Amino acid sequence: MKLFITSLFVLSSLISFAQKNKKENAPLQKPKLVVGIVLDQMRWDYLQRFNSLFKSNGGFKRMINNGFSCDNTMLPYTPSVTACGHTCIYTGSVPNIHGITGNDWYDNAQNKNVYCTEDTTVNGVGDVSGKAGKQSPKNMLVTSICDELRLATNFKSKVIGIAAKDRGAILPAGHSANAAYWYNKETGSFISSTHYMSALPTWINDINNRKLVDSFYKLGWQTSLPKETYLQYCTSDEKPYENKAFGKEQVTFPYTLNQFINKDYNKILTTPYGNSLTIEMAKAALLNEQLGKNTATDFLAISFSSTDYIGHSYGPNSWELLDCYVRLDEELGKFFELLDAQLGANNYTVFLTADHAVAHIPAFLQEHKLPNGLFDEKNVLKELNIKLKESFSVDSLAIEMENYQVSFNLKKMVANNVDATKVYAVAIEYLKTNNAVANAFCLKDLMLQPMNNTVKQMLANGYYEQRCGQIQFILRPGYIDGWNTGTTHGLWNPYDAHIPLLWYGWGVKKGNTHRETYMTDIAATVAALLKIQMPSGCVGKVIEEVIK
Ligand SMILES: [Zn+2]
Repeated sequence: MKLFITSLFVLSSLISFAQKNKKENAPLQKPKLVVGIVLDQMRWDYLQRFNSLFKSNGGFKRMINNGFSCDNTMLPYTPSVTACGHTCIYTGSVPNIHGITGNDWYDNAQNKNVYCTEDTTVNGVGDVSGKAGKQSPKNMLVTSICDELRLATNFKSKVIGIAAKDRGAILPAGHSANAAYWYNKETGSFISSTHYMSALPTWINDINNRKLVDSFYKLGWQTSLPKETYLQYCTSDEKPYENKAFGKEQVTFPYTLNQFINKDYNKILTTPYGNSLTIEMAKAALLNEQLGKNTATDFLAISFSSTDYIGHSYGPNSWELLDCYVRLDEELGKFFELLDAQLGANNYTVFLTADHAVAHIPAFLQEHKLPNGLFDEKNVLKELNIKLKESFSVDSLAIEMENYQVSFNLKKMVANNVDATKVYAVAIEYLKTNNAVANAFCLKDLMLQPMNNTVKQMLANGYYEQRCGQIQFILRPGYIDGWNTGTTHGLWNPYDAHIPLLWYGWGVKKGNTHRETYMTDIAATVAALLKIQMPSGCVGKVIEEVIK
């Protein structure tokens, strides 16, 4: 009997040991952490063009070689700008539903221009008196995937958004985030708002007190590869169509930056150090907030803004842009190594994408006999109002040109008994005389326009009546709204709308697809991976190929 009891005890111990062992070695049911990485302004073709320059232990190759790449991911709406992109990625929704119709828009109900994340009902934290902190996701009308993660875990998941740009941190993290932090270019510090907290945590104050921006300014910006490499991939260093971001006397590498210490904390954004600063913040958040060590999955939403500032100033074929990506590749690689060490390889999920891409600089296209041109919004608006006054004897009937739309003073038209239909007809006729304009029409008549279906669908997805103009115009391919130096984005064309989409880590297969996928599919796929509800305005589809 005694022997029987002992054997039973030994047996049950063995079973319980085996069960425990099985439990410890069993794959995780959910990742410990999701890291969303948005590169503000990245063309998909950079992954290909710069592929041989990316390091084997860098961020891009790790994701491409060990993860999944959706090679034909498109924006399903216009305008292709920062606020719409960040919102779409994290909500799986389009401006027609989520209401973020641009970085700024003219609000027809409030009769004023609105900035996407402005919120006069909150105050800055770490920026008590300034405007920089009066921000929240209030204008975003739907939930983000981060909100849904919080809802799914009874708010146990920790969600933090980090970016140099306020909108790059706030819109992804969603309404119920624990925190969003962004860079105040007046002071060189990271700040937040009372939407999230009443005081900055100690670790943010510590990082601000380190005055990292000054240390970066002292370093200056030198090329990180041999000069021949830049020549192999880019134009010559100095081009007349580049902006002179650091003063008119500095036109080539190396750039000195120490003259900006204590004087100008904006300049760092047009250097790769703006991204280095963001990575430092992300690392500090990971360690200090113990992200991924929670009982529920946490979410870190990072957006790198300097890729956009550098791209605007120097263009896709510049030494500056190439240098920025080579450095970011290395920094992302190191960040992933820290994640491995903290959470264990494959215990976290990462996606990397962009809020939009960018057009080539028109003067660069001109050098190579490619279709190009400029559209001067400010001047066109001025001339349009002169034209309208000639016809209707009323000043300033057109208020604004924003997001390739014209907003009219609806009240003024009623007050002056002016027929809006006639005003729009004159405006459309005038816009069509501009060589840069491919088409112009009333947004109300959008679905009646004989035009390509893809473009029509993208414009319809971008239309939210209260926050849009009354007339839409479309520029010809290769034309930008800008001037003789630098470039921009915002249109439907593939150079603005084709973005990278890489997946890596827990739950992600190895491979790639050329099937057309959409920015709206990202949040839907994250929801499927995490087995949580899709955001409240999500219209995307799960990219099944990605999921193990
Ligand atoms: Zn931009």
